[in-house]
Amino acid sequence: MRIAVFNTKKYERRALEEAAKGSSLEFTFLEPRLDAHTAALAAGHEAVLIFVNDSANRTVLEKLAGGGARFLATRSAGFNQIDIKAAQELGIQLAYVPAYSPNAVAEFTIGLILTLARHIHEGHNRVRRADFNLEGLCGFELREKTVGVCGTGRIGTAVVRLLSGFGCRILAYDEEPNEEVTLLASYVDTREELFRYSDILTLHVPLMPSTHHLIDKAAISMMKDGVFLINTSRGALIDTPAVVEALKSRKVGFLAIDVYEEEASLFFEDHSSDIIDDDTFARLLTFPNVVVTGHQAFLTDHALRNIAETTVKSLTEFASGIPCSHALPLMS
Ligand code: NAD
Repeated sequence: MRIAVFNTKKYERRALEEAAKGSSLEFTFLEPRLDAHTAALAAGHEAVLIFVNDSANRTVLEKLAGGGARFLATRSAGFNQIDIKAAQELGIQLAYVPAYSPNAVAEFTIGLILTLARHIHEGHNRVRRADFNLEGLCGFELREKTVGVCGTGRIGTAVVRLLSGFGCRILAYDEEPNEEVTLLASYVDTREELFRYSDILTLHVPLMPSTHHLIDKAAISMMKDGVFLINTSRGALIDTPAVVEALKSRKVGFLAIDVYEEEASLFFEDHSSDIIDDDTFARLLTFPNVVVTGHQAFLTDHALRNIAETTVKSLTEFASGIPCSHALPLMS
């Protein structure tokens, strides 16, 4: 079976080739992102693999189907870039990688919290300039804080587990609370309560219409002064201009993000010689109390191996006509 792999990076190519060794899967590794202009590159391939910043909207899916694609898998846990209904109507089967390593993202989240809480990023920069002055580097300890975890699925639960070692008070909110979390954290009934009582708020809900701009001006107004926000889930959970205003007014005291709502045109590529014309993003980079990483929370050797193995399993099942173990939830 021929498979078009969009948005290929070297680290992923190695993992996919390793996982597919001995199989009859034939990969065509493509560098471009999938969109309406590049969909034609998949013509003649029965299966298509994509990643988080590819676009699989209705127009793109129609083009893929026209070129013979019958299967599409995202090499990610989030799947907000796929129009599931359109795929169903076009007869394209869908798969994803629901749990390649929740800990990879959870550990990174804790890393971001500690980086800002202790000014590790600034300390590192100073020492590289031979500046050993500690003025301005006084931090705070997690055990004195209330940390709110919004979304306690696989990643949120792993975050709660790790946080419990720090001795902080942990609050959680989820539409479907889970039992493990009740042993380590206290669920609140509404997300407004989570906003109101958290010193540190970390987001682990998927991006859906109901969570789009979950953190907007109104939500921020409910929060404690100086609140610390972390987003390692999806960029559009946060209304970035609203957060920039709140950083300027000091309502938001710290911001750590691994995802950004307009990241598709920036992340995963080297833009160090380009002029960044996204003023909101450029403004974010000027704050000393903001840390931005380029969607790397997932990136561990363990996660890459699991993503590749799960994806190859899904492709093999599709090729053999077996129901896919990691099919995307269907829409009614
Ligand atoms: P999951 O499906 O296991 O958990 C999501 C949880 O959110 C569920 O418990 C669900 O009940 C809850 N939820 C859904 N809507 C809600 C709402 N409106 N209010 C409160 N709770 C709600 O997903 P996961 O594996 O924990 O991943 C979470 C997200 O993390 C993914 O959707 C993806 O966007 C993101 N992610 C980011 C990276 C990265 O590299 N930065 C890597 C993997 C996943």
